[in-house]
Amino acid sequence: MASLIAIRRATFKVTSLHSSHSIFSRNANIKTLSNPNQSHNDQQQYHATHSLQKHNSSDTQSKGLKKTQGFSTITLHNKTEYFYNGNYSHDQSDKISKELQNLLEKMKVLGYVPNVDEKKQRILTSHSERLAVVYGIINTKKKTPISVFKNLRVCADCHDAMKFISEITERKITVTDSYKVHHFQNGECSCDDF
Ligand SMILES: [Zn+2]
Ligand SMILES: [Zn+2]
Repeated sequence: MASLIAIRRATFKVTSLHSSHSIFSRNANIKTLSNPNQSHNDQQQYHATHSLQKHNSSDTQSKGLKKTQGFSTITLHNKTEYFYNGNYSHDQSDKISKELQNLLEKMKVLGYVPNVDEKKQRILTSHSERLAVVYGIINTKKKTPISVFKNLRVCADCHDAMKFISEITERKITVTDSYKVHHFQNGECSCDDF
């Protein structure tokens, strides 16, 4: 019992020392303490501190920070629809998946080679810009141009896929990403491939 009190006192001492330290040196102290009573706030502080530091290892960065989630939007009839990478919660998800598979078969016939192994293929067929474009395809008349916005840069594989989709569906597909505007038509893109 006495030793427990001693530990508590020692912890208290260390904890009070923290307050006199700079925000960055706290970081190291928190790491060495395994006291479960170390409050949640300190954990949050730990992550917040990490996000402030530029010299993190990529390992700790991946634990402390989330990657920006990719999403795409398409506006049809004054209504904007949001699509997120790998998210099938949209109420037309089943239709979209079917059409994506249908397009994928046609794309392969035309020479499309997914830039991934089979396991990852499902992930790539679910990138948000593809979901948004296919939503546009199944909700507009044939050959209607489609315009999609993406918050991140379009990946090379989706860029390739869009070229094929523009050819198969005979549509102009505009994808505005965080980097530039891509106009896909007849199997080509205006950007001369990135
Ligand atoms: Zn992609
Ligand atoms: Zn392009």
